[in-house]
Amino acid sequence: MNCLLCQQSFSQALTLADLLYWRPLLTERICSHCQRKLQPITIACPECGRAQNKCEYCRDCQRWLRTQPDQELHNHALFVYNAVLQDFFKRYKSLGDYRLRQAFNADCQRWFRQHPADVYIPIPTDTDSYTRRGFNPVVGLYAPCVPLTNCLKKRPQPIKQAHKKRQARLRTPQLFYFTGDAAQLSGKRILLLDDIYTTGRTMRHAQACLKMAVPNCQVNTFTLAR
Ligand SMILES: [Zn+2]
Ligand SMILES: [Zn+2]
Repeated sequence: MNCLLCQQSFSQALTLADLLYWRPLLTERICSHCQRKLQPITIACPECGRAQNKCEYCRDCQRWLRTQPDQELHNHALFVYNAVLQDFFKRYKSLGDYRLRQAFNADCQRWFRQHPADVYIPIPTDTDSYTRRGFNPVVGLYAPCVPLTNCLKKRPQPIKQAHKKRQARLRTPQLFYFTGDAAQLSGKRILLLDDIYTTGRTMRHAQACLKMAVPNCQVNTFTLAR
């Protein structure tokens, strides 16, 4: 098999756990050389998932939760958004290399097995990005790992977000609307899925939208990178 990040050929090493547990084997798509360049997040801010040396709220989250104490996300991110992941997302999202969607399947699946939710909801893409790319990168990343419930739609956005300052971005009106069956999600543990956590704005909008439609659901979030 060829590594999806560096294209070098490699063979998957079986671990003792793979041999001992009777369960489908996770197929690694990244060679051990590339694996070593990734930075898995082990100790993090419990709210945004930022890598830290202590498991306590980071300064951004402390500030946010002082004003919005009932809007906790408990985001979990797998890897630091370092140069390797920046290059990966450039090729996957900007250049639209759809094969790369499988690169992190094994890592994500391992985490989902250990932290199962009732419902997995991907962050939707807007129509323009979908037309340009031909796929939703978030659905691409997670569809092979867990069953996805598509029940959020993105509203058309008049101004490009990149041109706005952080505070202005956090204040923008609701980005999403709910298109699902509220009764089906009632009382469920929902895991919202996105690719990269930057300011948390997308996740907070999606969480607020779900909570509005389904007041008694529990919503946490997951991203590949932070
Ligand atoms: Zn590699
Ligand atoms: Zn934080």
